[in-house]
Amino acid sequence: MPTQVKESKTAQFLTQNYPKNFDSLPSPCYVLEEEKFEKNLQLLQKVQQDSGAKILLALKGYALWKSFSLAKQYLSGITASGIYEARLGYEEFGKEITTFSPSYKQEEMQELVQISNHIIFNSFAQWQTFKGIIESQNQLRERKGQPKIEVGLRVNPKYSEVSPEIYNPCVEGSRLGIPPKEFKKGAKKIGLDGISGLHFHTHCEQNSDALQRTLKYFIKHFKEYIPQMRWINFGGGHHITRKDYDINLLIQLIKDFKSKFKTEVYLEPGEAIGWQCGFLIGSVVDIVQNGIKIAILDVSAAAHMPDCLEMPYRPMVRNSFEAKANKKHHKLKLKGKMPYAYRLGGPTCLAGDVIGDYSFKEPLKVGDRLIFEDMVHYTIVKNNTFNGIPLPCIGMLHKNGEFELFKEFSYQDYKQRNS
Ligand SMILES: *Cc1c(COP(=O)(O)O)cnc(C)c1O
Repeated sequence: MPTQVKESKTAQFLTQNYPKNFDSLPSPCYVLEEEKFEKNLQLLQKVQQDSGAKILLALKGYALWKSFSLAKQYLSGITASGIYEARLGYEEFGKEITTFSPSYKQEEMQELVQISNHIIFNSFAQWQTFKGIIESQNQLRERKGQPKIEVGLRVNPKYSEVSPEIYNPCVEGSRLGIPPKEFKKGAKKIGLDGISGLHFHTHCEQNSDALQRTLKYFIKHFKEYIPQMRWINFGGGHHITRKDYDINLLIQLIKDFKSKFKTEVYLEPGEAIGWQCGFLIGSVVDIVQNGIKIAILDVSAAAHMPDCLEMPYRPMVRNSFEAKANKKHHKLKLKGKMPYAYRLGGPTCLAGDVIGDYSFKEPLKVGDRLIFEDMVHYTIVKNNTFNGIPLPCIGMLHKNGEFELFKEFSYQDYKQRNS
């Protein structure tokens, strides 16, 4: 969920070149850039080494599993939101599998206990429901000499700086995490026997100062329980690989926490792993006029970059410049920083399938290719075939500049999702 990035901050993109053989790459296509991806992983590995925390990849934001052979060399495992992600992590990543879901169903738990290391519940009731299955699985594991499933509870520390509200798990009436009062009740009535971890997830694209403030609330509300735990999971939303992220503060916070409470610490970022290490190629299919010039592309905000509409934000387009729409004498005008200004829109029938307004040094023509920056997280995991629009291919640009096509989608993918 990239936030609105200020034009000046992304000036680095303006001088960027296009990849080798750019015109021969498929369009549309999500392209992972191996070199940048590995740099993210190396930085995260350094945070693990210097802080002693374990970092898990949240598959919710990034599940490009053909890249897991690389990711698993650096990270400690994955975090799953439910059975499918847990299974993908188990099959393609290995290492530690943590699962948190707001609610589990019986048949899901039967499968999850086979493959999870940590299972985190959102309520005492769910923990009670599945205690039996977990205990019998653990007896089996003990006989086989395998590590046991460890159980955690997600709590609500009643503090989050995330906006908009749709991404804030601490809004009034939130269903995510056990609030302090309910936790106290549960701990009294049911006890914490069998619970070895606490989990909170209250960040989104935040720096470590937000974690510092959050920890105060987490500690304030749960301090009597924390020392009984083997691990505390600080959730995701730590924007560790962003340029201005204060890594030293993060490391210090983790070290202080670990030494004060004698627990392990986990982080489970998704976005920080796929941050700014890939793009989406799209092509101009038509250019129409309606007071302003509108380029219709083969990529869609609604189908391929849904966060552009959800957040909402305007993604960066490589070698493009700003353009602003305004009304002059009741007429819509596009004023660009560069002479040729366009509104970029998708091929769906949704009127609001608009990516944004941009200007260019040269006029756009049908067949031109555009690069939408930072498009490998929260895109492929969320895209859809609305309007029957074809899904973009997925590939990787290797360190040596060679492109590898991982996946092409066809009509069958569209047809098989329906019946
Ligand atoms: C979404 C989510 C994450 C990952 O968040 P990012 O913002 O991608 O870092 C981690 N843990 C939980 C429980 C989540 O819901």
